[in-house]
Amino acid sequence: MTVFEQSDDSVIVVIGSGAGGGVLANELAQAGVNVVCLEAGRRLTFGDIVNDERAMDEKMTWHDRRIGEGLLNPYFPAWMCKTVGGTTMHWTATSVRLQPHEFRAKTTYGIPNTSAIDWPLGYEELEPFYTLAETKMGVSGTNGLPPLPMNNNMKVLAAGARRLGYKEIKSTGVAINSAPYDGRPQCQQIGFCKSGCVIGAKWSTLYTEIPKAEDTGHFELRPNAMALNLEHDQNGRVTSVLYSGENGAIQRQRARAVCVAGNAIETSRLLLNSQTSMFPDGLANGAGQVGKNYLKHVVLGALGFMPGEVNFYRGAQQGGHIADEQRNDESRGFAGGYQIESAAFSPLSVARIAFGGEWGEELTSALEDYTRIAATFITGEDASQSKNGVRLHGEEKDAYGLPVPIVRYEDHDNATPMRKHANASARGLFETLGATRVVPFKVNMATHNLGTCRMSENPADGVCNKWGRAHEIDNLYISDGSQFSSSGSANPTLTIVALAIRQAGHIRDRMAAGEL
Ligand SMILES: Cc1cc2nc3c(=O)[nH]c(=O)nc-3n(C[C@H](O)[C@H](O)[C@H](O)COP(=O)(O)OP(=O)(O)OC[C@H]3O[C@@H](n4cnc5c(N)ncnc54)[C@H](O)[C@@H]3O)c2cc1C
Ligand code: SF4
Repeated sequence: MTVFEQSDDSVIVVIGSGAGGGVLANELAQAGVNVVCLEAGRRLTFGDIVNDERAMDEKMTWHDRRIGEGLLNPYFPAWMCKTVGGTTMHWTATSVRLQPHEFRAKTTYGIPNTSAIDWPLGYEELEPFYTLAETKMGVSGTNGLPPLPMNNNMKVLAAGARRLGYKEIKSTGVAINSAPYDGRPQCQQIGFCKSGCVIGAKWSTLYTEIPKAEDTGHFELRPNAMALNLEHDQNGRVTSVLYSGENGAIQRQRARAVCVAGNAIETSRLLLNSQTSMFPDGLANGAGQVGKNYLKHVVLGALGFMPGEVNFYRGAQQGGHIADEQRNDESRGFAGGYQIESAAFSPLSVARIAFGGEWGEELTSALEDYTRIAATFITGEDASQSKNGVRLHGEEKDAYGLPVPIVRYEDHDNATPMRKHANASARGLFETLGATRVVPFKVNMATHNLGTCRMSENPADGVCNKWGRAHEIDNLYISDGSQFSSSGSANPTLTIVALAIRQAGHIRDRMAAGEL
């Protein structure tokens, strides 16, 4: 096992081991760059993963104190993991590219009352890295991998979609092995993807990037290591990370450069917490953009009660999608598009998010018909709003002694007509197959956390440049979904991985040129 000295200032420190951090760390280590990865959560093994949502929630989910405002749950405003592998442990693995126009949200949509900007890079620039990301992750329908076999739920959606005239019905674009790949087995359709995949058929950095990085001898993972503060020198360059290590002891790791990949809320919170006299509002926050423009995707879930048994809980929890509504066609009454995905929910989730949890005829009859349910979940373009974001509580502290984050999210006006349209699509899709009842969800909140440290061409509009490098600090990188300049309609992780691969190349180039 490789161990680096805490005083070794030649290492790159990566904070977080999820989609962004795990991939970036491995890419750098493969190139011979020494990396220390600080991960707040503990390291699970396959032996710890069980097909039990409650047990895995306790083992994996981030439950540190946060406060939600606006539309968010006040006690649990965002869903992410605190464990090695990050939220690639919980995720359901839909892996789709952003469309070219989605990199140009401001130019393309022109929606009023948004803080939208265009990305400082275009689809063409990211395209080769999407290909590398798909190879790394074993995305179905790429690299000779067949489409994922459709479970009953996806077969219902596909049949309904065909009747409505939809053409782009896919079980490609999923980072779940549709055949043995990269030393991992084929999906056995066990149906517990959100609880961590017990056989490793679903891509997660826990058992792909992290062990591969360790094999290089250039990588050290420190689990249970919560980064508290970033320190800098008199020139404003980051020099070290203060973190709470094993048994809560405060440690200091020196660094050549620091790459923050803590998921959008924690990444922006760490920068805001790192206030000094030189950076009184937090690091990289001279333009006041850290924590702003939090994006989540517009979502809508819907249940269709079908004439026959579906057993939608069996098989991959999100094993396919329909892409026809992803186009930008403002004749539908809204800007941007949405993707229709297959989805599965436990009886508890059905009760809570579709029926508000109230016990009565509506809910009891739904639970009696649980095996006849088919379900969709729609992911749509979210419009940037600077009022959505993360700020620090003035007094309340968490178990590490850090100010608790307050997370705010409100819908933009564009979400209402998009949801109305998506509701009609879901209803049409189920009713054309004879559904006896269609129930749109009462609670609609995406599990995606994006923005808060966005990329921008103009330093006044964002936090980092097109490589994820902070505008203000030469050796500080944003390496996760916080970088997103806009959300697009695709699930974000494939783009996070593509950006991390690209960022690793940029860091290597700068090191080779003696700039870093
Ligand atoms: C139920 C669910 C289903 C999902 N399904 C999909 C899907 O189908 N497709 C898709 O594209 N996306 C999906 N997502 C979202 C996807 O998981 C995330 O977009 C992705 O994992 C984000 O990557 P990240 O690197 O930004 O953060 P993460 O993967 O969350 O990694 C962040 C890591 O940083 C650590 N960390 C945070 N702060 C600190 C700190 N201060 N010090 C040290 N470590 C820290 C955390 O513990 C965590 O391990 C889903 C999410 C959920 C919850
Ligand atoms: S359905 Fe497939 S990917 Fe999901 S948990 Fe089961 S084996 Fe893993």
